[in-house]
Amino acid sequence: MEYIDIHSERNFNEFEELYAKLEKREIPDGTTVTVTGCIHRIREMSDFAFVILRTARRLFQCVYEPSKTDFELAAIKEGDYVRLNGVLIVEERSKIGYDFSIRSCEIITSPRFEIPFVLNKAKLDLGLDMKLDYRPLSLRNPSERAVFKISAAIQAGFRKFFAENDFTEIVPPKIVSAGAEGGADMFSVDYFGQNAFLNQSPQTYKQMMVGVFEKVFVMGPVFRAEKSHTNRHITEFQGIDIEMGYINSFEDIMLTEARALRCVFDYVTENCAPELALLNVKLPTFDTIPRVRFSEAKEMVAKQYKREFRSEFDLEPEEEKLIGDLFKKKYGSELVFVTHYPTKKRPFYTMDDPEDPNYTCSFDLLLNGSEITTGGQRIHDYDMQIAKMNRLGMDTSLFESYLMIHKYGIPPHGGLGIGLERFTMKLLKLDNIRLATLFPRDVERLIP
Ligand code: ATP
Repeated sequence: MEYIDIHSERNFNEFEELYAKLEKREIPDGTTVTVTGCIHRIREMSDFAFVILRTARRLFQCVYEPSKTDFELAAIKEGDYVRLNGVLIVEERSKIGYDFSIRSCEIITSPRFEIPFVLNKAKLDLGLDMKLDYRPLSLRNPSERAVFKISAAIQAGFRKFFAENDFTEIVPPKIVSAGAEGGADMFSVDYFGQNAFLNQSPQTYKQMMVGVFEKVFVMGPVFRAEKSHTNRHITEFQGIDIEMGYINSFEDIMLTEARALRCVFDYVTENCAPELALLNVKLPTFDTIPRVRFSEAKEMVAKQYKREFRSEFDLEPEEEKLIGDLFKKKYGSELVFVTHYPTKKRPFYTMDDPEDPNYTCSFDLLLNGSEITTGGQRIHDYDMQIAKMNRLGMDTSLFESYLMIHKYGIPPHGGLGIGLERFTMKLLKLDNIRLATLFPRDVERLIP
């Protein structure tokens, strides 16, 4: 019988292991090694050349010298996928402490056509549409790629926090019969002749699961048929949602988010040093996050920046930006919780503030002047929930399974939703959410 043997010697992680050893200067001078990657750039000097190899997350400089190498430089070109055999020579002037002197080369794959733009610049010099049209190629640029290595680490950081804090991951359906957030921004699906929708949020499902697991999280796609053309909205985004029971108030949710973010920032800082350095980003370190009531925040910016604001019940993007500026200036914080949003603007499941029902037990978290999270306490009392739905003119019969939790009992609970791409965009100070989305979907874009 033939077997796939997990103890076989094939190593899929060779380059990163070698690189870690090089960083620690653990490889003896004169060691012969083979490295695999794509030729990112060839820089010809007078009597030698630098061949820069692009590996999964590094640019590795190799030295081509005609007297030491058994092939002509003309035999290789940028874009070739190669296996280079060579010798590591200790060289203190080199960034990594060694020179890699090439001896021979095996070309694994050579491109049939040339990429139609210059890929190997430090910053890709392309307009947004070109970057997105050529996504499989533009993402090979190390700076473009770094954004997604960080975004993957953000998700891993959240998962670490959730695992350490006994949250259970759940996978609710994406094809649903009704929306959770209201409004018309839902994609319809013809579901065997029945009208269905793509989920706008996992809200009702994660609440249902509080009665089962107490603390749950969801990481999965969320769909919004928003016709807006802004730099911070897309029609499909990755939602990071939590819901937890036995809370004393929505303050417990803010505290949980603050702790989760601290864990995420520490995780990303620890695991993405090369990418953060490449993008020249330093993540916020904090033990506290300032908080301000919605109405106070509005007044503060109106006074400080002498502005008239149009919307009474929500924050305009410009206001969020000014709140961000103000709190950065006054308290040195890139993060600020804005609490007690008006009832008018919050969905049916939101708990009203017992002290003033015009406001809610809810919050948004702003990062660098833009909302990245909405959260709050939910209604757990049956009569209160039915009364609110009736007040809003909702058809409660569409929510029978959801209302089981209120009918048959659920502890006080609350939660929040974060959009991964919006979060990554604000954290890395990108000027468009599409740059933090692998294959963005918006009103115009369905390809690639
Ligand atoms: P906004 O006011 O920015 O349109 P929202 O109030 O509709 O957002 P929520 O429904 O509260 O957003 O969603 C929670 C989080 O999900 C937001 O804070 C944001 O990070 C993210 N998010 C919401 N809508 C979008 C979208 N269209 N594209 C990308 N991310 C989004």
